[in-house]
Amino acid sequence: MNTVDIIRKKRDGGVLTREEIEHWISGTVSGAIPNYQSTALLMAIRIRGMNDEEAAILTDAMAQSGSVFTSDDMPGFPVDKHSTGGVGDTTTLVLIPLLAAAGLTIGKLSGRALGHTGGTIDKLESIPGFRTDLSRTAFLEQVNRTGFALADHTEDMVPADRILYELRDVTATVDSLPLIVASIMSKKIAGGAQGIVIDVKTGAGAFLPELEASRELANALVAIGTKLGRKMAAVITDMSQPLGRMVGNALEVCEAIDTLRGNGPEDLATLCCELGAELLLFARKAKDRDGAIAQLNERLHDGSAFEKLHELVHNQGGNVAALDDPSSLLPRAARRVEARAESAGTVSALDALAIGRAANLLGAGRQTAEDDIDPAVGIEVVKKIGDAVAESEILAILHVNDEGALDTACAMVESAYEIDASGAPHAPPPLIVERILGTREG
Ligand code: URA
Ligand code: CA
Repeated sequence: MNTVDIIRKKRDGGVLTREEIEHWISGTVSGAIPNYQSTALLMAIRIRGMNDEEAAILTDAMAQSGSVFTSDDMPGFPVDKHSTGGVGDTTTLVLIPLLAAAGLTIGKLSGRALGHTGGTIDKLESIPGFRTDLSRTAFLEQVNRTGFALADHTEDMVPADRILYELRDVTATVDSLPLIVASIMSKKIAGGAQGIVIDVKTGAGAFLPELEASRELANALVAIGTKLGRKMAAVITDMSQPLGRMVGNALEVCEAIDTLRGNGPEDLATLCCELGAELLLFARKAKDRDGAIAQLNERLHDGSAFEKLHELVHNQGGNVAALDDPSSLLPRAARRVEARAESAGTVSALDALAIGRAANLLGAGRQTAEDDIDPAVGIEVVKKIGDAVAESEILAILHVNDEGALDTACAMVESAYEIDASGAPHAPPPLIVERILGTREG
């Protein structure tokens, strides 16, 4: 097969066959196809698009480009959850123990922070001793023995995505719907889950801020996953303001602990139950959504979900005492600095992207993949949209170690808030914007 012919076909708006797509992906991973040809094809796809059939084939070819897990490797009906990335999105840390407490199987592979969005693996590593670099064997052993594990992607999984993402990043081809869908779904498919819920964020702090684009992405993810035989649901959720109150690694672990003890912020708890409910329904552990949500709420309040967090941390070598005494055993920043309101009024907007960037400036995230993060630093969001504030009242608290970026970060946090002095009420934006369900049958 001639790679030039494949590029020409897509350049001219043609539909690629399975053989052509598989030739491209295997050649990209083996090195037989040079990067300049791959980038030309990526650009042709960016401009011409792909139909659902092509995108599904691409997803599968990428998933099969490295080592894969299948449902035969894990007991029961393995489920997975993915978020398109947000600010202070502590959901996975809560959801994994919560789903385990509800009796689901979940072997979750997760990632690190990049850009303004946090990564679950970095957050977990703020628990002293917690190991995220499980070998394939150790990961599967734990899932089979306990029903759940949460680890970093192994190096040998989905190499096609690593190669293509790097090329897309430097050739203005990241923002292509079929390429985004194939990138996200190939990693889910390779993880072996049979039921998958995707939290598609929308609003300022989201990867795709516009609702129309979020909706298009959600529909495409559900369509492609369904084509590949997975039970799929997507929930479009608000990321115009940060989720919960904590943004930062150890801070978010604290927030997850509170939530698993039934004392977390309402939006975070609600979102975890909403997303988890879809998976309970897929695994036939509940009859309807209300019943599923009630079941999960009970697990948050009866101590069983928190117990599962203990088990997870114990199984992966972490210091379980830190879960019971987080304020003294998790990393803590040297200083707390308050950002205050200049004038009285009602919070009418709170820019999640600005808060995410400010947290990164303090060291909570990375600019490049090689950067180290500081687990202790971040931002505690005290006031959210709809809250009344008095003049000079605390809006947010910055947890700071390196003072170098403090002034800039503090100014960013203050200007992330819009405060309306008119006396008009401002309702918080709805958390659940839309649900997009694949078929539940089968
Ligand atoms: N997230 C991914 O994993 N891949 C993309 O291409 C975009 C967002
Ligand atoms: Ca949070």
